[in-house]
Amino acid sequence: MIIVTRRNLSQGRINEALSLLSREKLEARTVSWNDETLIVTHESPSPRITSNLEETGIVERFVVSSHKAQLGSREFQAEPSVVKVGKAEIGASRIVIIAGPCSVESRDQLLEVASVAKRAGASLLRGGAFKPRTSPYDFQGLGETGLRMLSEVGEETGLSVVTEVMEPGRVELVAKYADMLQIGARNAQNFSLLKAVGKSKLPVLLKRGMMTTIDEWLLAAEYILLEGNPNVALCERGIRTFEKATRNTLDLSAVAVLRKKTHLPVLVDPSHATGSRDLVAPMARAAVAAGADGLMIETHPNPENALSDANQQLNLEEFEGLMTELGPIAEAVGRTIR
Ligand code: PEP
Ligand code: MN
Repeated sequence: MIIVTRRNLSQGRINEALSLLSREKLEARTVSWNDETLIVTHESPSPRITSNLEETGIVERFVVSSHKAQLGSREFQAEPSVVKVGKAEIGASRIVIIAGPCSVESRDQLLEVASVAKRAGASLLRGGAFKPRTSPYDFQGLGETGLRMLSEVGEETGLSVVTEVMEPGRVELVAKYADMLQIGARNAQNFSLLKAVGKSKLPVLLKRGMMTTIDEWLLAAEYILLEGNPNVALCERGIRTFEKATRNTLDLSAVAVLRKKTHLPVLVDPSHATGSRDLVAPMARAAVAAGADGLMIETHPNPENALSDANQQLNLEEFEGLMTELGPIAEAVGRTIR
């Protein structure tokens, strides 16, 4: 249960409620949520306890959620969240486009993509500086040098930057250069990393793990929210199934399911979901039609020679073409692309 406390209470008053819960052997913690203080309990207190809590005079309202992921639930917050990243608003009526290469390879590469992406209507620049590669022999990313390039090119082109952080110990470093932290599929249930990005208070793009169910994904998001960081956007990027025709299986129904279950915005990454360039545009169009709040599209000036994910990155012309196609689809579902 979530206890939304009255505004401007002293810590002493909050502590009274916490001791009451602790005497009843109920685990609880306080969470600073925007400008409110919440007390979140692990289990629902009995009616006797809630009425005792009410008597303390600290309760604004109680929220009992049917989902374990309480802070992310629609019961707690009925209206959709808008996650602000620089000038971009993920979850507002304009669909947010994140474009950029799989890996940051050079300043020139990044600048070329970013300039075209910006002109075509993208708001965020992506690019991995720390890459989670399946093989230790593959390109691992440029590290801090790559982060510096991202932040400089972002500044130069007026795009905000999102990039992956793989370790709790690197959150501070990545946060120095990025406007949004990405948790990759392979770290979707790295709980110490989730807590660390929660503490950073920077907006977080939480990708779906390739083997996480929607409920597990929402609980992963809950780890971040519980640190008092409400700025979480989810990104569907395909799951592992028996199907081999695509790199992963894009679960577009997740967009509609999440819309019912959570107030958090939902993006779709058709690049990692399909793994092939010619499937990215049709799935991007479908994602917009399905109600996604944004798209992440891997884009590279010269995909054939990319140091990672060469098969799935769009070239600049293909990206521009896709952006033009998305306009009318967005409009048909009451949204805009630019
Ligand atoms: C990425 O977006 O750079 C990435 C590695 O994707 P995922 O974590 O979804 O595989
Ligand atoms: Mn990639």
